[in-house]
Amino acid sequence: MAKALGHTITDIKPSLVPLECYEKEECKKLQGLSLKNVKVKLVDKEKNKVIYEDFGEMLLTHFGVSGPIILSSSAHLVRYPKIEEKYQKKEILLKIDFKPALTVEKLDERIRRDFEGYKNKEFKNSLDKLLPQKLIPIIIQRSGIPAQKKVNEITKEERKKLEEVLKNFEMTIKGTRPIEEAIITSGGINIKEINPKTMESKLVKNLYFAGEIIDVDSYTGGFNLQIAYATGYTAGM
Ligand SMILES: Cc1cc2nc3c(=O)[nH]c(=O)nc-3n(C[C@H](O)[C@H](O)[C@H](O)COP(=O)(O)OP(=O)(O)OC[C@H]3O[C@@H](n4cnc5c(N)ncnc54)[C@H](O)[C@@H]3O)c2cc1C
Repeated sequence: MAKALGHTITDIKPSLVPLECYEKEECKKLQGLSLKNVKVKLVDKEKNKVIYEDFGEMLLTHFGVSGPIILSSSAHLVRYPKIEEKYQKKEILLKIDFKPALTVEKLDERIRRDFEGYKNKEFKNSLDKLLPQKLIPIIIQRSGIPAQKKVNEITKEERKKLEEVLKNFEMTIKGTRPIEEAIITSGGINIKEINPKTMESKLVKNLYFAGEIIDVDSYTGGFNLQIAYATGYTAGM
């Protein structure tokens, strides 16, 4: 209706939305795993540029990743130039640090200590104290260390590879989930065409806008409701 009345509508995209990953098989195995105190980075692989960084809680799902820090990160992807093309070219990486509180050196000390206690066990049975059960087979696979290898036979190089996987677990972002699953819509009626003091259209007299229909959106935390209330109140008055 706004368009028919001459307003411009900026691109409508899902935001605060879960992300799909190319690693489908791994995602299926990790489905339901909730991770606390992890650090994530979204990286443009081609430009070697960090798009977004956050620390907190995330969730693995059958299609990819979700949870608070992932939803926030999606708001940055949605605005990133040529993002659809980059998804297709597999240029957007999610890098997860499962042990952000430990430097690589500290993590190495911790693993060596754990290994000391599991000396004669197989590698696959040595990570119980370090990681949630669901994650262990995937980490083992990515580390390249044979699952049956005796812990006391693991070399320094193999341990370094394991630490690299734990500090820098890469997933490739395929895109966002559909708009129906998004908490918020990014895009809408161009704000330049609205008087912010009254929310009246600058193009059509006595036409007022409020809330999500306008091209404004923000993080979770009540900001979007606040936008709706504040613009609704202003328009109403
Ligand atoms: C799962 C979820 C969780 C969220 N959590 C948060 C949060 O924690 N914090 C936060 O700030 N925001 C959150 N949001 C976003 C927030 O709810 C919205 O930004 C806000 O409700 C937008 O308000 P609105 O009045 O502009 O639009 P809406 O609430 O979408 O209201 C629009 C209304 O218009 C009606 N309508 C549509 N077309 C027509 C038509 N042609 N004729 C008549 N009626 C029509 C619709 O049925 C609807 O009732 C969340 C959203 C979702 C989906």
